[in-house]
Amino acid sequence: MRIVFIGPPGAGKGTQAERLVETYHMAHLSTGDMLRAARDAKTEVGQKAEQYMSAGELVPDEIIVAIIAERLRQDDCRKGYLLDGFPRTITQAEALDKMLAEQDTPLDVVLELKVPEEELFRRLAGRSRADDTPEVIRQRLVAYREQTEPLLEYYGRCRLLKSIDGLGTVEEIFDRARAVLDKLN
Ligand code: AMP
Repeated sequence: MRIVFIGPPGAGKGTQAERLVETYHMAHLSTGDMLRAARDAKTEVGQKAEQYMSAGELVPDEIIVAIIAERLRQDDCRKGYLLDGFPRTITQAEALDKMLAEQDTPLDVVLELKVPEEELFRRLAGRSRADDTPEVIRQRLVAYREQTEPLLEYYGRCRLLKSIDGLGTVEEIFDRARAVLDKLN
C-alpha cells in the first residue's frame, strides 16, 4: 500500500504512523525525521532546513521534493510506504503525483487524522521539545492551516481522501485507521 498520512502538528500522527507501518509492513517516510537527522548530522541541507524548522515554518518545497524523490527510489519502498508529513503544500503534492505517475505507482489512500485546533494547542503546549515555544507552536499551526489544509480538497477531488477522528485513546484511533486500510485490501 502507498499511503499519505495527513494531520496537523500535535494530532498524534507519529505514534499512529509507527503502529501502521509495523502492522502493514510499509516503509515509514517521515520528512520531519529525515530533516532532524540531516540537521543533527550538520549536512548542508540540514543546516538550511534548521532555520525554517526552528521558526515553525515549512522548509522550501524544492529541498523537500529532492529528499523524497531520492528516498522513493530506494528498494524498501517497493513493499509500500506511508508518507508521514509529506506532502505539506499543493506544490509538493503535484510533484509527488508526477513522480508516482512516471513510475505507474499511484497512491492507494490519503488518510487524514482530524483534531480540533484548541486540542492541538493544548497537547503541543504539554510537550517539551525545544522548538515548542508558544510562538513556534502557533506558527506551525498557521502553516498547517494555510499551506497544508488545502491538500484535503485536492485529494478529496480525486476521491483518495479518508478522514478519521483523532480524539480518543491511541488504540481507538488505531482501530479507526485500520478499518479504513482494511477496506482497501
Ligand atoms: P514534523 O516532524 O513532520 O512536524 O516536521 C518538523 C518540521 O520539519 C516542520 O515544522 C517543518 O519545518 C519541517 N518539515 C517536515 N516535513 C516538511 C514538508 N513536507 N515540507 C516542508 N517542511 C517540512
